[in-house]
Amino acid sequence: MIDTTIPLNCTVCHGTGHLPGTSRSCLACGGERSFPGFEPREIYNSVLNKNGSLRKRVVSSGDVGSIRACFVFHTVKKYADPELHQPVSVELAVHGDPYIKHLEAVAQAVAQQVLHIAFKEPIMDLGLIVSVEGDVPNLDAMTEGELSAFWSKYHRASKKAAVALVGDRPHSVGVAATLAAYALDKSCAMKLRKEGDIKGAMVYEESMDLRYKTLPVDIRW
Ligand SMILES: [Zn+2]
Repeated sequence: MIDTTIPLNCTVCHGTGHLPGTSRSCLACGGERSFPGFEPREIYNSVLNKNGSLRKRVVSSGDVGSIRACFVFHTVKKYADPELHQPVSVELAVHGDPYIKHLEAVAQAVAQQVLHIAFKEPIMDLGLIVSVEGDVPNLDAMTEGELSAFWSKYHRASKKAAVALVGDRPHSVGVAATLAAYALDKSCAMKLRKEGDIKGAMVYEESMDLRYKTLPVDIRW
């Protein structure tokens, strides 16, 4: 596991606190020589709303933590729209920060899990991506009875049951509820098709499509 919690030397003055060859204070670290470490999960969460979606804006209050959150936020925005640029003020604020690459990796994890953007070659693995492959069953392969049982179990799941199903992620209870609603729609659609009510079944199938599209990509089947 990559450790990001230790302080590292400023990359501009290399830990001297001075501008190279002068006695003037390094502007990047303000003469501090090093930058503090950080918890990737904390920064990850700081750019999200409580329901797990990306915040509308993240403003820096000038301390290292909020500057980094701001940098991660704008990097996520850039991944979502390559036309966007990092604001110059943010770029200047992180100048000299030895953890820039790690912060970009946090931004990639947010972009991947929240905006469903895929990266062929992720910068590094900070353990932020929740992989629960195999835990969410293929609901399209279930019988009517299995679907009803799935709905009963997960439409008001406890946090613990939801995490066991979809992994420890933002809004896990809500994601489990979406899966449960999908299962209920699917069982209704199957019942109606059996009864020959194709139009009725299609209403439920449309709803299933919409629900499926809101699921995090890594748990789709
Ligand atoms: Zn410095």
